[in-house]
Amino acid sequence: MNYTKALDHKIFEIISKAAQELQLESYVIGGFVRDFLLQRDFKKDIDIVAVGSGIDLALKVSELLPNKPKVQVFKNYGTAMLRYKEMDIEFVGARKESYSENSRNPQVEDGTLEDDQNRRDFTINALAFSLNPHNFGDLVDPFDGLADLKNKLIKTPLNPDITYSDDPLRMMRAIRFATQLHFTIEANSLKAIADNKDRIKIISGERIVDELNKILETPKPSIGFLHLYQTGLLDIILPELTALNNVEEMEGHTHKNNFYHTLEVVDNICPNTDNVWLRWAALLHDIGKAPTKRFHKKQGWTFHGHEFLGGKMVKKIFERLHMPLNQKMKFVQKMVMMSSRPIVLAQDIVTDSAVRRLVFDAGEDVDHLMTLCEADITTKNPKKFEKYHKNFEIVRRKIVEVEERDHIRNFQPPITGEEIMSLFNLQPSREIGVLKEAVKEAILEGEIPNEYQAAYDFVLTKAEKMGLKKVAN
Ligand code: ATP
Repeated sequence: MNYTKALDHKIFEIISKAAQELQLESYVIGGFVRDFLLQRDFKKDIDIVAVGSGIDLALKVSELLPNKPKVQVFKNYGTAMLRYKEMDIEFVGARKESYSENSRNPQVEDGTLEDDQNRRDFTINALAFSLNPHNFGDLVDPFDGLADLKNKLIKTPLNPDITYSDDPLRMMRAIRFATQLHFTIEANSLKAIADNKDRIKIISGERIVDELNKILETPKPSIGFLHLYQTGLLDIILPELTALNNVEEMEGHTHKNNFYHTLEVVDNICPNTDNVWLRWAALLHDIGKAPTKRFHKKQGWTFHGHEFLGGKMVKKIFERLHMPLNQKMKFVQKMVMMSSRPIVLAQDIVTDSAVRRLVFDAGEDVDHLMTLCEADITTKNPKKFEKYHKNFEIVRRKIVEVEERDHIRNFQPPITGEEIMSLFNLQPSREIGVLKEAVKEAILEGEIPNEYQAAYDFVLTKAEKMGLKKVAN
């Protein structure tokens, strides 16, 4: 089969010409070919294999391009990269790899195209289009990856046991591709992943998280998390989640299985947000439930304080997996810590002051919090489902109303501490804190509007009760 039409972009003509000048063979390989054959969007990351030096080819290609783009060379890896019209083009020399026990970085030697295809992770990622003039556009497919594409199968070119053990990151990649493409992981491969699960320990947190993020960025992340669970990988990577997978019964009381509930919440949130950190919050929102679970004769099962403990656990997970410990972590933590607030509010009559407090505590993130809590409604009771959603609609409406009136989101006290000090001729002292707190409380309770004059009058009255005297003007 010939796929010249896949290669009608100018860049392929230029790479082909550069390779001829250097008397090398060259091929497009991997994701670009796979995604073309799957009729996915045109892929902007392009991988080129040269049978010879990939670095020389990249330099030659740059020479032939009109703007002569800069070539980034990674000598240690024998690779080079250049950007052309928003495309990242990576060049590598065909190579043969051999692995040792403790590292996923192999010993490398020059090889043929076939050697290079052998080292690829999956048959569907080993497909190549020729860029050589005598067979330009021909598909080179030694492992019948085309059939696996049609049958939607993730399969390794060589023995899966060795492929996964050599580079255990491939286990994560298999599960990620299965989730992104809705493919099945071939049975032998799935077994090999389960058998080699402990090898994941040699992979850095950053790389594991890259794959977890890609799983979370799909429309249905539960596919990936179920695979991670079934292969035993999840228990190693995120044991806090697998700890949620149980249902206990005591004296006729059961509780829901919080693991499967969590996966439902993650899937639920996807149509409503592309923010991967909010998706992380959905994934972790109940992790405090395993360590806080108690049984009480009267109340049944309780998870008191699980949100607070969950928030603390978020930080530990981020540290362990080398995730960013900046605002992103704080955001996930805040979402987890506040994850029960709107539901408590929606179970009752929604008062303005409760909404003001919610907006005050959540600040800019209040909409994200609402999105999380709406996704958290997984009840199978249609009446409850409708009731909660209706209440959340009311909460959302009130958030807008209250915000228009009271501007609580980025709350700035309408009267400052300095002003209070000069009004009563006070040095920095406890009284100022008390007065400021009283103003805030009065605004949140709706006793006064969030305005200067109202706050000024309120402070005067309150101060008088505290025995403070206003300084004469
Ligand atoms: P995507 O960009 O959607 O992740 P991709 O297939 O382009 O898909 P990359 O990570 O850019 O993924 O890898 C490019 C190619 O390099 C892959 O198609 C595959 O052939 C090969 N590859 C990447 N990582 C590995 C690995 N760990 N083991 C073996 N081959 C790999």
